[in-house]
Amino acid sequence: MKPRVIEDAILSHVQAQVPQITALIREFVECESPSDDPAAVNRFVELVADRVTPIGHVRTVPGGRFGRLLACEMKLPGRKKSGQILALGHSDTVWPMGTLKAMPFREADGRLWGPGVLDMKSGIAFFIFAVKALRDLEIPVASKVLLQLNPDEEVGSEVSRSFTENNAGHSRAVLVLEPGTGLEGKLKTARKGVGGFAVVVRGRASHAGVDFEAGASAILELARQIERIAGFTRAARGITVNPGVISGGTRSNVVAAEARALIDIRVLRLKDAPALEKKFRALRPFDRRCSIEVSGGLNRPPMERSPGIVKLFRTAQKLAREMGVEVEESLTGGGSDGNFTAALGVPTLDGLGGVGEGAHAANESILVDRIADRTALIAKLLAGV
Ligand SMILES: [Zn+2]
Repeated sequence: MKPRVIEDAILSHVQAQVPQITALIREFVECESPSDDPAAVNRFVELVADRVTPIGHVRTVPGGRFGRLLACEMKLPGRKKSGQILALGHSDTVWPMGTLKAMPFREADGRLWGPGVLDMKSGIAFFIFAVKALRDLEIPVASKVLLQLNPDEEVGSEVSRSFTENNAGHSRAVLVLEPGTGLEGKLKTARKGVGGFAVVVRGRASHAGVDFEAGASAILELARQIERIAGFTRAARGITVNPGVISGGTRSNVVAAEARALIDIRVLRLKDAPALEKKFRALRPFDRRCSIEVSGGLNRPPMERSPGIVKLFRTAQKLAREMGVEVEESLTGGGSDGNFTAALGVPTLDGLGGVGEGAHAANESILVDRIADRTALIAKLLAGV
């Protein structure tokens, strides 16, 4: 079936800008910004600040041991009378400095490739060009629009969280510029909550040959506990428990005195978290000579698919249809800063950024032919929500 040819003023305008949008994405990707390198993140934040200065009031605030946070109130046409929309993203990537050497920015096979291109430097570029389009076309926007970029999203958003929650608390809606799901670029209307536990087992060391009976193996104890912990998974209810790291012992001829495990948990519903946490706290040793210490809990609450989120998604779907684009919704097990804003009850629509694949992977890339409709959709949402 041939796609319908639809005349859409914003889409046509943005389509003509794709080379400039691509150039900005390239600049962003070529300015590496790993979470654990605040100087590098600050260079990227400076670059973004420079690009948005003509179209917004920028300020940056210190991010502690991370780079600076960026907040920018956009200068948009129209009288501001109906509250604020928060556009949320992050400046950090998972890629260490120097990744560009092996994985340079390139355009090939209808895609843009490079570290952070999908997660989420293209989303930031789309937002900037969405604002430019509204300004160029003099389309009134009734809400104040605030862009916020966090420097620590990929490592848990510990520093930025309160800033995000504060800005979201003053907003009617949150648009998250993270990538969409899959090569269709589905929007994200639900995200699982994420947490982690550390389980430390202490046993009794002894010589494995001379004094075997006197030992109480922390490794054996932990192995038995892992089986039990993995059994906390309830896949049908959206609860997963993954023992992702284990370590312990010193030498093969020593009965291990200590062993530890790091466990990732995901929940679809906030109300499932306390029961799961309780199960962890209730772990008791099989071998009474061992002890168990449990720490951790839920770090990001789930983004639950609320009526407000569904309404926002339906609006996006309608606006996309004006351009002949069909967008669907998705649930993801991965967290974002949208989890925090949704948990406050603020309607949050996530996954508005790049359409592609390979986030955090060597094939990270976005589809060039989805740059225009994504940018236009962000513009339409800013004007239409
Ligand atoms: Zn991201």
